[in-house]
Amino acid sequence: MFALVFLSACAHVETRLPVPNQAALRKESNTQEHQAFIRYAQQLSRLDKISTKLLQANAPICEKTFQDMGVRTHTLKSYPKHLRDAAKRQLGAKKHPTILSVRDNAQLSKMDSLLDQRANPTSVRNKALQETLKTEQAEIQIRRGDKTLSVPVTSNLACDYKVSLRMSGAVNAYATGKSIIITTAMMDFAKTDEELALVVGHELAHNTMGHILKIIQNTILSGFATRTTRPFEAEADYVGLYYMARAGYNMDGVETFWRRLGVKNPKSIVRAKSHPVTPARLLSIRMTAQEINAKRTSGQALLPNALKPTQQNP
Ligand SMILES: [Zn+2]
Repeated sequence: MFALVFLSACAHVETRLPVPNQAALRKESNTQEHQAFIRYAQQLSRLDKISTKLLQANAPICEKTFQDMGVRTHTLKSYPKHLRDAAKRQLGAKKHPTILSVRDNAQLSKMDSLLDQRANPTSVRNKALQETLKTEQAEIQIRRGDKTLSVPVTSNLACDYKVSLRMSGAVNAYATGKSIIITTAMMDFAKTDEELALVVGHELAHNTMGHILKIIQNTILSGFATRTTRPFEAEADYVGLYYMARAGYNMDGVETFWRRLGVKNPKSIVRAKSHPVTPARLLSIRMTAQEINAKRTSGQALLPNALKPTQQNP
């Protein structure tokens, strides 16, 4: 460290370097920021599309559900700090929630601002609004230009887990018990929508199966968190594939996601303390797909096989 400081203090370059002018520098910064933002916004909308499909298709077997109005709002804080200027320029993101996207509702538009705080995603689970949505069409207050309007909204039942995108160069995804987080590098790595559904399904299973709580309990009891998580990872792969199939995604060949990940991280082919090794994951997913296809052919419900028979799953 000291050697580096010493070197940098007296080091100097020996060639005449080009010095870009300020205006050109600013222009190129804007171009790069703009492209980075467009890429982020596209990933956000792809993740929303796929996770909505999974959360709605699996609502009948999710314990925690909510009425999803399909209204996505955003504020400047919804974006990573360095993309907020671009978010303001490109999508008109503000300090207060405005509509980013709407599904199945022709009466709302991106230019509308939400006045009804019950429709804000942070309070969308507001009890009164949720109760109304269950039985009838609810109305939310919006501002359009200088007018205040009441707009009817419909909803669909969905599993109640928030799905977010995190800007990171690490190919990763995780579940917290209440939410699912997918990194931007994972969005790039999951080439097809089927692969992304596999990843989101896996994290959804961690949440629905209560793995996070079980891991904490195991940690307290055994003190070996890494080894105790392995069966839960295998279970999340198994249950997650059912979630994906129930949402109508094609499972053919989706297991090769794990081959590509093994090739990218060769260590995970032979050694994985907290997770099953990637060859085992590929083969287990292939076997699960065969199990699901057999159920489909014989007209059985697509439900994971439980260890203990239950009323729902004999
Ligand atoms: Zn996992």
